[in-house]
Amino acid sequence: MSTGYLDSHCHIADAAYENETEEVIQRAKDAGVERFLIMCVTLDEARKAIEIKKMHPEVDLAVGFHPENANETTDEGLNALEELLKTGQFCVLGEIGLDYYWVSDNKEKQKELFMKQIDLANKYDLPISIHMRDATQDTYQILKEHPCHRAGIMHCYSSSYEMAVEFMKLGYYISLGGPVTFKNSVTPKEVAAKVPLDRLLTETDCPYMTPVPFRGKRNEPMYVTYTADTIAELRNISKEELKGAVMENYKRLIHQN
Ligand SMILES: [Zn+2]
Repeated sequence: MSTGYLDSHCHIADAAYENETEEVIQRAKDAGVERFLIMCVTLDEARKAIEIKKMHPEVDLAVGFHPENANETTDEGLNALEELLKTGQFCVLGEIGLDYYWVSDNKEKQKELFMKQIDLANKYDLPISIHMRDATQDTYQILKEHPCHRAGIMHCYSSSYEMAVEFMKLGYYISLGGPVTFKNSVTPKEVAAKVPLDRLLTETDCPYMTPVPFRGKRNEPMYVTYTADTIAELRNISKEELKGAVMENYKRLIHQN
């Protein structure tokens, strides 16, 4: 039996899908998607995702406070996050990290939230999913000096291949999304072609980052097929080989091998 596709980063508990989640999952399965890692960035999303998982054992769950919400995240929020981790329903902590694109006047606050969540990941023995935008050096510095024992996923990786090598040395997997399909995106294509096959993951980051030929429309997990097939093409390997390696990487990361 051939392996299915992996979406290692989808926000299908987001309000963008309202009551459409069932259809979204069904469409993805029909397109050959086998595993989903649902990212929850609010406590409400986390509760909704736990309900989704009851119906769909093939979905995995991640929860964490996004750097964009660093200013609003309180100690009570972090306590509530820890309560969720205690349920054992979440196999990844994220997405967490640094984003200096939207807000850059609170760098220290972002770093503090990032490190506190790394501590939580270590306490519950979880890998992390990293959001990094316009903050490559600071993110690298934190991951090196304040390590997550299980490492994790560089989600929708968009920095250089050289830095990807450095993150891989720290144990991280490189997850690629829609931008590898964009005609003019040189770096993601280079990364897709050069990252060792045993370090690659695929994702949508839906509802954002929709791959070609649906760029501009709302994204959903079924479209990860376009991203994965493009990566296989860039590497000159079969779709089957790519899917098989990606799924193996994912299971190794979440300790399912
Ligand atoms: Zn995300």
